[in-house]
Amino acid sequence: MTVAWSFTRLDCFESCPAKYWYQYVTKRYPFVENEHTTRGNAAHSTIEARLKTKASLRTSALAVNEKTRTSIEWLEQLLLVYESLPASATHVELEVALTDQYTQCHWMAKNCRHRAKIDFLILSLDGTHALVVDWKTGRHYPAKVIDQASDYAMCVLALFPGVRHIDAQFVYLDDRSVHDYKFTFKDNPVIRETFELRAADLQASYDNNHWPVKPSDNGCRFCSANVPGGCPSGVR
Ligand code: SF4
Repeated sequence: MTVAWSFTRLDCFESCPAKYWYQYVTKRYPFVENEHTTRGNAAHSTIEARLKTKASLRTSALAVNEKTRTSIEWLEQLLLVYESLPASATHVELEVALTDQYTQCHWMAKNCRHRAKIDFLILSLDGTHALVVDWKTGRHYPAKVIDQASDYAMCVLALFPGVRHIDAQFVYLDDRSVHDYKFTFKDNPVIRETFELRAADLQASYDNNHWPVKPSDNGCRFCSANVPGGCPSGVR
């Protein structure tokens, strides 16, 4: 089979191929939500509702959570700034599905090779500048976030070929910080090539049915297979 990769799946595979195998191939130990992912998902739904329906943040899940309730006013102001930007189009929770030729396709299409979801996208009036916004809870991991930002840049350039500049902003709700990564259309060939090479490694594991274990404290800590009777290499 030819695999469709996403940033999350590639990250899982690279952290431990066996973990990917357990989660996505055999599905014997599928991903199980933990308190961190539950909180992150609640934050995404809350902000999505605020952007789509103007639902108040002040009565949302963010307002009752001790880590984010002090960020409500800050976030509301930030959203107002985003909403005041002159834009030719905005998209909330935009699903991106691409073929190997970087053309758009249906999410479940057989020839889909890459999937991504963009939390919030603002296109400038002249269509040459895209602002991508990603909501985050928890801590900032620069290496991972730059990687994710380059994926967003690649997706934006596939969907909107007239874009010349991309700002990817990661909004951290807990500590009220914004991390901004900038790209231009000239970065696209290198980004594509890099992800293609990484996706080829994932494809090779499918082709050869080769899923070696790669234990690590952090990787195993949040691995569903790290249970009695599960992965024998788990770090407990
Ligand atoms: S428990 Fe650790 S080594 Fe085993 S599959 Fe999970 S991440 Fe990999």
